[in-house]
Amino acid sequence: MKARCSMNAKPGAVDWDAVRADLHGLHLITAPGQRKQLSKDFYWYSPILSAQLDHCVADLVVKVSTEDDVRQVAAVAARWHLPLTVRAGGTGNYGQCVPLEGGIVMDVTPMCRVLDIQPGRMRVEAGARMHDIELAARETGQALRMWPSTWQVASIGGFIAGGFGGIGSFRHGILRDSGNLLRARIMTLERAPRVIELHGDEIQQVHHAYGTNGVILDVEVALSPAVEWLHCTALFPGYRGALDFCIAAQAPALDIFLLSSVEARFSPWYQSLGERFPADRHAVFTMVAPDSMAPFRALVAGHGGRISVAGTEPELRAQGLPPAYECAFNHTTLQALKADRRWTYLQVAYAAPFEPAVVERHLRLFGGDVLQHQDFARVAGQCCAFGILLVRWKGREHQYQVMREIEAQGGCRIFNPHVVTIEDGGMKTIDAQQIEFKQRSDPMGLMNPGKTRGWRPALAARC
Ligand SMILES: Cc1cc2nc3c(=O)[nH]c(=O)nc-3n(C[C@H](O)[C@H](O)[C@H](O)COP(=O)(O)OP(=O)(O)OC[C@H]3O[C@@H](n4cnc5c(N)ncnc54)[C@H](O)[C@@H]3O)c2cc1C
Repeated sequence: MKARCSMNAKPGAVDWDAVRADLHGLHLITAPGQRKQLSKDFYWYSPILSAQLDHCVADLVVKVSTEDDVRQVAAVAARWHLPLTVRAGGTGNYGQCVPLEGGIVMDVTPMCRVLDIQPGRMRVEAGARMHDIELAARETGQALRMWPSTWQVASIGGFIAGGFGGIGSFRHGILRDSGNLLRARIMTLERAPRVIELHGDEIQQVHHAYGTNGVILDVEVALSPAVEWLHCTALFPGYRGALDFCIAAQAPALDIFLLSSVEARFSPWYQSLGERFPADRHAVFTMVAPDSMAPFRALVAGHGGRISVAGTEPELRAQGLPPAYECAFNHTTLQALKADRRWTYLQVAYAAPFEPAVVERHLRLFGGDVLQHQDFARVAGQCCAFGILLVRWKGREHQYQVMREIEAQGGCRIFNPHVVTIEDGGMKTIDAQQIEFKQRSDPMGLMNPGKTRGWRPALAARC
């Protein structure tokens, strides 16, 4: 096939037999059902994205186990001008690993080795599941600083390329905060792929870039001494009281890993908690260090609350109870959608310092259409609140009307989960540094096309 410049091959016009021959020796998946399954993520939370993405399927899926495998796939994609979308756990929310233009999906989950663990740091291959990494770190008395609530399936590379922060961010900040990500090795997408090593803040060039800026091969992340966290549920009679408690719990004397408030109307979807999260009480889900339990209990009581659950994760599991992290972040939405698909969600960043009156206003304004849930995290050292709100699905216009209302007052910013591009989702502006790096790491613009507005075909290198 004749190579083309500055324009991706139309997959229909590609000689796939020849492409497959070029990928000899690799694990190729051609069966339509499997290709379809490996072209999806959790975009189905959004009815808007469901309509837009349900038909998107890779022409070919390749599973890679080694750096040499990645090099071979990258070179073949470059030679044939094929779109290449990297996927790992497939737990992203915005169609992040859905191949909008078909082409090749490269599944990196077999690249999952722990390469090195030292005091305060560990180096792992990008496809490693975060929970597996944590178990390896725990063997050395250390632990990951943060992870998504999907960590049983989600990979470290997917977290860096698609995520933001999560469980642990209340204590350690978000992924982009200095000191959390130490080193990353990236494979470029070119006819002769190269490896680029990024250190510290340079990693921002691939962080939250949705895999448009090269393939992350392995990463080195910071570790902290392990703590046997106590997973607690604290109940409050009013939602304002629950939020006031969350603000008070930001006191430096308390060592807390996770702090999330969930309003009472979610309780029917938390069936396994039963009377531990009754329909007339609002819940705060936390992970608290054993040393902080006494002041934590006093603070709950001082705010008119009571603790209905407190125990280590194994203790809770033995009683059939979920750990606190499966009650927070986007697991809250998941609990609801598992039972009732007439809802969707929105993500909000509140102005700092967080003012609970903003949430009280939204409770009044939206009534039964919007249910409240806030996660607290440190960003550049400052304590911030983020909302993952459950929104009744009444159509696209209603969804955007709710977004406009929320952004109209109180300094709230919406991170729109109903769009596929990085810029429309949260960044709002084009990250010039990322686009500049893309010209080095993906000069033909083949990686996950359609996910960044900052990339225009005119930027593609002639080849
Ligand atoms: C219930 C639920 C809870 C969640 N909670 C959180 C949370 O607390 N915090 C959070 O940040 N996110 C959260 N997420 C989103 C998602 O689970 C995480 O971001 C997760 O870390 C993604 O990892 P993954 O392996 O599933 O990535 P995928 O979904 O496979 O990929 C995500 C993106 O990264 C790219 N990518 C993957 N691997 C590589 C690689 N090696 N090189 C280059 N690009 C790559 C993909 O192309 C894609 O654009 C949640 C999602 C759900 C459904």
